[in-house]
Amino acid sequence: MYCKRCRYELKDGWNVCPKCSEAIVSNDSILNAEPKSSGAIVSNDSILNAERLRQIKAMENIDTQELPTAPSNAVIYLAVYFASTLLCFIPQTRAIASVVALIAIVTGFIKCPENRAIKVLFWLTLAWIVCSIIFSIIIMAMCVNALADCGSSWR
Ligand SMILES: [Zn+2]
Repeated sequence: MYCKRCRYELKDGWNVCPKCSEAIVSNDSILNAEPKSSGAIVSNDSILNAERLRQIKAMENIDTQELPTAPSNAVIYLAVYFASTLLCFIPQTRAIASVVALIAIVTGFIKCPENRAIKVLFWLTLAWIVCSIIFSIIIMAMCVNALADCGSSWR
């Protein structure tokens, strides 16, 4: 038997050609390998492999099915957020409802950060809070100025 690449004479049992380090595939190993790719025994193997693949895929499906349960939590957070946002319009419940809405959207953002609706509402709420703080500071500054003007004109 000779090396396919460099025609170096090879001895039995060699896996690699010592001259060019080409991997040797002997006729014996081809003969040994052939029954594995055909015949009843191999078809059993392939059935087992197919079954195993199906099981792995089923397990993967279970793993991916755990993800859709996360948005159901997100729906709860969104529902609480919208319910308490509506309650903000009622003067009696405004204070509690705004706190509940804030807690709901912050918790939703921490627990389900991949949920787009929660993400958008969280940043909108944050922007609204920042805007209202800035607005109330401006109003307070104007009031202080107005009071200062009043005070100076009263003296
Ligand atoms: Zn060789």
